Amino acid sequence: MNGALTEEYTAAIREYLAGSGEAALRLAYESGRRALVEGLGVLELVAAHQAPLVQALRTETTEKGKERVLMQALSCLAEGLSPFEMVLRGTREGNERLQRSLSSLQSVEEQLRSQNEDLTIAHRSVEKERRRYQALFDFAPDGYVVTGLEGAIREANAAAAALLRTSQEMLPGQSLHEFVVEADRSEFRERLHSLHLRTVDRWEDWQIHIQPRDGSPIPVALTVVAERAVPAVAGLRWLIRDVTARRRLEKERARSLVGQARAEAARRFEFLAEASSLLVNSFDVEANLISVARLTVSFLEGWCFVGIIEPDGTFRQLEVAHADPALTDLATALRRHCLLRTRTNEANATQLLGPQVINPLTGAWLDGIADGPDHAELLRQINGSSAMVLPLRIHDRLMGVMTLISSGAARGYRPSDRLFGGDLARCCALALENARLYRDVVAERDKAEQANRAKDEFVAILAHELRNPLTPILGWTQALKGNALILRDPVLRAGVSAMERNAKMLARLAGDCVDLARISERKIRVEHKPTDLNAIILASVETVREMAISRGLRLMLDLGSEPLQVLGDTMRLEQVVMNLLINAVKYTEQDGLISVRSISSGKEAEIEVQDTGIGIDPAFLDLIFQPFRQGTASWLTSQSGLGLGLTITRQIVEMHGGRVWAESPGLGLGSTFHVRLPLTTLTHEESRVDIPIGPESQGRGIQILLVEDSEDILFLMKAELEELGYAVTTARDGRTGIEAAKTHRPDVIISDIKMPIMDGYELIRTIRATPELRTLSAIALTGFGTRGSSERALAAGFDACVSKPAEREELLAVIRELTERDSSAPTGTSFSLASHSAEERLGDES
Ligand code: ADP
Repeated sequence: MNGALTEEYTAAIREYLAGSGEAALRLAYESGRRALVEGLGVLELVAAHQAPLVQALRTETTEKGKERVLMQALSCLAEGLSPFEMVLRGTREGNERLQRSLSSLQSVEEQLRSQNEDLTIAHRSVEKERRRYQALFDFAPDGYVVTGLEGAIREANAAAAALLRTSQEMLPGQSLHEFVVEADRSEFRERLHSLHLRTVDRWEDWQIHIQPRDGSPIPVALTVVAERAVPAVAGLRWLIRDVTARRRLEKERARSLVGQARAEAARRFEFLAEASSLLVNSFDVEANLISVARLTVSFLEGWCFVGIIEPDGTFRQLEVAHADPALTDLATALRRHCLLRTRTNEANATQLLGPQVINPLTGAWLDGIADGPDHAELLRQINGSSAMVLPLRIHDRLMGVMTLISSGAARGYRPSDRLFGGDLARCCALALENARLYRDVVAERDKAEQANRAKDEFVAILAHELRNPLTPILGWTQALKGNALILRDPVLRAGVSAMERNAKMLARLAGDCVDLARISERKIRVEHKPTDLNAIILASVETVREMAISRGLRLMLDLGSEPLQVLGDTMRLEQVVMNLLINAVKYTEQDGLISVRSISSGKEAEIEVQDTGIGIDPAFLDLIFQPFRQGTASWLTSQSGLGLGLTITRQIVEMHGGRVWAESPGLGLGSTFHVRLPLTTLTHEESRVDIPIGPESQGRGIQILLVEDSEDILFLMKAELEELGYAVTTARDGRTGIEAAKTHRPDVIISDIKMPIMDGYELIRTIRATPELRTLSAIALTGFGTRGSSERALAAGFDACVSKPAEREELLAVIRELTERDSSAPTGTSFSLASHSAEERLGDES
């Protein structure tokens, strides 16, 4: 390459040495520099001088010439070498720079190497971490899945694959949706959507059921975290945890909790049941509450304070119960004070709306419920840890407060105890309310009974006052009826029979009133002797026949041929049939028909009284048997009386073991009354007890002393008794009665109670106190039909009581019983009917 340049250089030197001047030297210099640049070595450059120098020296013959040539050759060489020198210098400098660069390169390399080493270490640890993560990922017990935003699986670990019952390799690309049970899918989608929208960053412990490829659904808890990348969400990381075992454990725990709760609930239930039964233990609600307080502390331990609000609004402490026998003194001291007094007054009662739990107890709270510093000090000694205040309320009314204070090791009250406390409070409040209602009801009942007694008394007095004057009227009309003078005069005869009819009607009304008084005091008593119902019906029909005919009614009688034998009281049964017949006559208009039937059906006899009268509203069919109740329509007819007949009828029938009822198709369609009585097979003779054969023989040989201030009654009774064969002496007051008794020594004294000078009570007391009269049998004629007067008479010493004016049969029966017993009793033995026979038979009505 540099061959040409070298030649060029050699030629230029030759020229110069040949004396061509400066231009040749410049050319030599130029070509020598270029040659050097091109890579000509120094030795080659020096060698390039050799041939022209040798040639020039040969040419020069002189030494001087030779010297000049040499000098020229040398300066040429120097010129030629100067660029070389420069290059050499530059090279040296470059070398130095190179050297420097090299050393800096070496340090960079050094750095790089160390960085490389660091990187290698870092890489190794990253790799280790990655492997660790991978291991974790792969072998973690829970399923890890990485999905896209729509749930497409990118990565899944072995546990996830196992959970989803598929192979790990198969999972990438599948959608997680497909593994969610149908029921949870829409929620799944919604939650994914919210992650997508970035409204939430993660869902934790999100419980769903997954549906593996095969097998049944598995409950899982999902935790999904959105991987954030700006500006969107990059993907989702899922942790899927099988919670089957957790669920089972939870269930088992829940079951065991339920079991414990049940046991506790059962214990509490038992306690509440026991408390409830204690609360109804007696009518004394305060005693019951005290028992409950004691039961409460035995159940809950600690202390129980019970207080009640009095009707005047003041609060009274009932009981301070405690469980620890060692604390009796403290309890005694606490009983002297009243807990919560100020809180229960009207202004503060609103603080006690429902159960309150105070836990822990503070000194301030104790100060608030104490009635003063001493009380507060005592309360502190309880050393209570918590309390429950149970207001005993019904609706808006505070009726008391129960305060429970736990102490010692007993577990404190918790807010959850309020429910149980509320139940206990409700039981106690109900008991208090019931007691209050009971008190009210009893007071009302007493008032009603008092009013009823006043009514009965009024009815009895009225009946008495009616019957007293009626007795002589009836007696005299009967006497006058048989009088020859009156019999001859048709006007007088009609007048007397009208008098008799009306007096009888009045007597019946008065009799009903007396019967009612007896019924309400349960004093009616019936005889049970075999009696023929048909005979009773016949006699009754005969009695009303005249009345029916006078009202233009037809009477039809259909009685069986056989007697209908029942065990009963003839007079009372006659009263039953008469009541029904008289009603039929009263409530049937002219031209109507009254049919009376009797049949025997099975073991019963039935009487049926049917009429074509005004009928009964079906709504009243049963009411008409109640006292003073009338069918509205019939009342308007003014036929109705006091509304007592059917009440008495039902009572008598029931006393015979039978029943009576009414039927009617409706108003205006007539009525039918049925009476059913049990039949008997006993005959009259079989049951017959000593009954005197003839009326006159009944009283033969028996002395009666009649003490009565009413002359009319005295006259009538004397006449009636004498007609029956009794020997009768009379007296007008108690004192003369005693005189007469002493004089005549009667077998029986019959005495009025209300008399001038000496009343009946004093009379009998004197007789019982007089040795020679003490054993006399004595019958009181009491007036007012009340239990009080007959009881008083019997207590005073009478053997029996008969209400005034005395029913003839009733009085005779009593006399008979007294005299028969008297004669069968050992001589000198007194006996009393007060305790049984007379009282039972007649009731002790006056
Ligand atoms: P009283 O007839 O005195 O009112 P009762 O006790 O005998 O009292 O009868 C009660 C009510 O029953 C009567 O007021 C009447 O309304 C109704 N009653 C009784 N018997 C009949 C009957 N045969 N027909 C229609 N109503 C009757």
